[in-house]
Amino acid sequence: MVGMVDVVVAGSGICGLTSALRLQRAGASVALVTADPPENTVSAVAAAVWYPTYTAADPRVFDWARRTFDEFAAQAALGVPGVFMRSTRMLLRAPAPAPWWAAAVRDFRPAPAEQVPPGYAGEWRFTVPSAEMVPYLGWLSDRFVAGGGVVLRRRLPALAEARTIAPIVVNATGLAAGALAGDPAVHPARGHIVLVANPGLTVSIRDEDHPDGMLYVHPRSRDVVLGGTFEPDRYDPVPAEATARAIVERCTRLVPDLRGARMLGQLVGLRPARHGGPRVGVEDGWLVHNYGHGGAGMTLSWGCADEVARLALAAGAGGRRSSDRPATS
Ligand SMILES: Cc1cc2nc3c(=O)[nH]c(=O)nc-3n(C[C@H](O)[C@H](O)[C@H](O)COP(=O)(O)OP(=O)(O)OC[C@H]3O[C@@H](n4cnc5c(N)ncnc54)[C@H](O)[C@@H]3O)c2cc1C
Repeated sequence: MVGMVDVVVAGSGICGLTSALRLQRAGASVALVTADPPENTVSAVAAAVWYPTYTAADPRVFDWARRTFDEFAAQAALGVPGVFMRSTRMLLRAPAPAPWWAAAVRDFRPAPAEQVPPGYAGEWRFTVPSAEMVPYLGWLSDRFVAGGGVVLRRRLPALAEARTIAPIVVNATGLAAGALAGDPAVHPARGHIVLVANPGLTVSIRDEDHPDGMLYVHPRSRDVVLGGTFEPDRYDPVPAEATARAIVERCTRLVPDLRGARMLGQLVGLRPARHGGPRVGVEDGWLVHNYGHGGAGMTLSWGCADEVARLALAAGAGGRRSSDRPATS
């Protein structure tokens, strides 16, 4: 049992943990209620590289992405576990102007034409933050507890149930938010990745429009994440061997150094996608939503958490003001 706290956050993926920490930093007492521990969330499967995958060019999204970039860059400089900056080469199948998110990235530039690999129309180069999610989520969770946060392992049957813990509830339940918030726009975008031993790679490469499926190669400290798939409305959690083979083949064709790299495992995760983009906003004065980030939950996490903390504290202050009023007014 916990006594009444100011805010309860439902969900301990990247969206829940960052929201809880921002609330704590703002002085709120916070509890976190979660069905799964951080290492069993979709967040733990993420590649997780800063890149606004399939997100729209809307001003809020740009701001979330930029703030998140800056926070992760600062954490990488401080040596936070699992966080590092990664040089990236993004290969283009058709000529394209600089993307809307380029202004959030500090060193975005097109590659000189003579350095673009044969078969591609262009290449962008940039450096972005990346996080090894298992140690990083653990670090976030430890900080939350060290800051006085309470974690409860419980699957909420309904979000209103969390109001027995706090007057303000943050809904960061990912894909489960579809049912919990009654939101038909929420759907899975299934992702399959393969992990291989790192043969010494230090640069990420992406070819998002590869005709056989999304292609990315993201080196980490010990392994390399090879991707991948983005399959809307597919729930199957089991990785298929043929898909894994196809991912390894197309990545190896582009990055021959991967040839023969030992396979360490493969993972499937259901990205919590939402038609219309992430939902970050208040409902009924007590419920603050933070879900539906699809393939960009890490990329938008800290920026959304800033907004969630602002909204939740304002909702809490509003609730206190209205309950202070005499019942007859
Ligand atoms: C293969 C793959 C690669 C990816 N790569 C990237 C990348 O490179 N960059 C990037 O930005 N993003 C990436 N993503 C996307 C990213 O993983 C998601 O956007 C992000 O993890 C969503 O986080 P979340 O906190 O909303 O949800 P989740 O991590 O799913 O967490 C949801 C939480 O809610 C809890 N919960 C659910 N129901 C209940 C309930 N009833 N009661 C209590 N708790 C409940 C769960 O236990 C869990 O703790 C990738 C995803 C996949 C699958």
